[in-house]
Amino acid sequence: MDVVKEILTTIKGYQTIIIHRHQRPDPDAIGSQVGLAEILRESFPEKKVYQVGGSVEGLEFLAEMDEVSDDCYKNALVIVTDTANSPRISDDRYKLGDKLIKIDHHPNDEPYGDLVWVNTKASSCSEIIADFYHLNQEELVMNNKAARLLYAGIVGDTGRFLYPATTPHTLEVAAELMTYEFNSAELNRELEQIPMNVAKLAGYVYQNIEVDAYGAAKVMLPQTLLDEYGIVDSETASIVSLPGVIDEVLAWGIFVQQPEGYYRVRLRSKGPVINELAKKHHGGGHPLASGANAKNLEEVSEIYNEIQELCKEYKK
Ligand code: AMP
Repeated sequence: MDVVKEILTTIKGYQTIIIHRHQRPDPDAIGSQVGLAEILRESFPEKKVYQVGGSVEGLEFLAEMDEVSDDCYKNALVIVTDTANSPRISDDRYKLGDKLIKIDHHPNDEPYGDLVWVNTKASSCSEIIADFYHLNQEELVMNNKAARLLYAGIVGDTGRFLYPATTPHTLEVAAELMTYEFNSAELNRELEQIPMNVAKLAGYVYQNIEVDAYGAAKVMLPQTLLDEYGIVDSETASIVSLPGVIDEVLAWGIFVQQPEGYYRVRLRSKGPVINELAKKHHGGGHPLASGANAKNLEEVSEIYNEIQELCKEYKK
């Protein structure tokens, strides 16, 4: 039996299904998680389906999470979406279930789970969930809520169909989702809208970005600056893609200092593969979009030097 059929058969065998996603959720984490939850609720009204993982950090317009007790995990099926490594799963009670399924589109560095469905060619995990529905249409039911969430996940992870992971299939899936009833223009606006302080931070990013001769760029966001602008870490998501529109920028790192002192590193690239670099610094991710951590300014310099090397090599 292929893994997709096995996943559906497994889902049918459980009365309680608890769906997790990664920490610091983005629209694709929530879209794939709650999109799947809505499909399962609509398809199997007799089952108990929960979405968990705590705060959704500014994405409340997409969905809210459920609170569940430890008891709930007894004899439950746990599904984790959009999460490559087990330490990044939000709420580590995912271990308490009877069976674990991983559904993801990141490189399968850690194949945790009794069943694993990873498709790194998919633009987003939401696209995989839409495929899951499509491949099992005789048994699964899509609804407007699920379509809206999956559409949001695809738009989020493709940067509105801009990034290279966007395929003809991505557009077909998005087109089918748009046939459901939800206001896609309003949703796109909600995904794009930023508060004034984040807009001002965007100005700071453009004013202060450093770019070398090979297109390696660096933006430092120390905690004092974030305090000055009144920005919390989750709000930096809106500024991560900004350097990409500058023609001379090839790959970049945004170094966001955390209240504890270390730096969250958000890496993006238009060509050089950056996920191996991310893995060397307690991170990982996709070839052109990764995240890492730097314990101090010395490691920040090391990471920037490595980005510079990659850009230099790429331009040879
Ligand atoms: P971000 O900059 O947080 O939006 O992350 C970009 C990509 O890198 C996402 O696909 C994340 O899943 C992945 N990523 C970010 N941080 C980490 C990390 N610490 N470990 C593994 N993957 C990460």
